[in-house]
Amino acid sequence: MAQCEMCGKIDKLYKTIVEGAELEVCTNCSKHGKVLGTKEELKKRLEPLKKTVRKQSQTILLVKPEYASIIRNTRERLGLKQEQLAKKLAEKLSVIQKLENGQLSPSIALSQKLERILNLKLIEEHNEDDFKMVSSKETIKNPTFADFVKVRKR
Ligand SMILES: [Zn+2]
Repeated sequence: MAQCEMCGKIDKLYKTIVEGAELEVCTNCSKHGKVLGTKEELKKRLEPLKKTVRKQSQTILLVKPEYASIIRNTRERLGLKQEQLAKKLAEKLSVIQKLENGQLSPSIALSQKLERILNLKLIEEHNEDDFKMVSSKETIKNPTFADFVKVRKR
């Protein structure tokens, strides 16, 4: 509860556009203008927006480009045959052969399985912000609002 900016009545207030000005007014006075909503309603409407902004920064999983040699070296170090590794992974022998030849890039799911079974590291985690930093450098080239104003003054 707060005081109406038009009549001074203590009431539940609505953010209302009255003759071009944004005022917090009571139910009665809000009839004279365009009601935007209560403070609480406006707050709620803004919150989901903030959440989507946070979601944009995500971790990107990438399989290391040298996956073929990592898999082969680790398998050999463990003394496993390709057939044995295929069995452990519940994959076809041809899949293992292609992985070790570099002909088949493992999916994230398969990489995670390989990491678990062979106790190695195949997936690199990248923050999406790492990629964004590249693009933000480019925006410096663009004229800022201040530059634009200077140009207009000439
Ligand atoms: Zn009022």
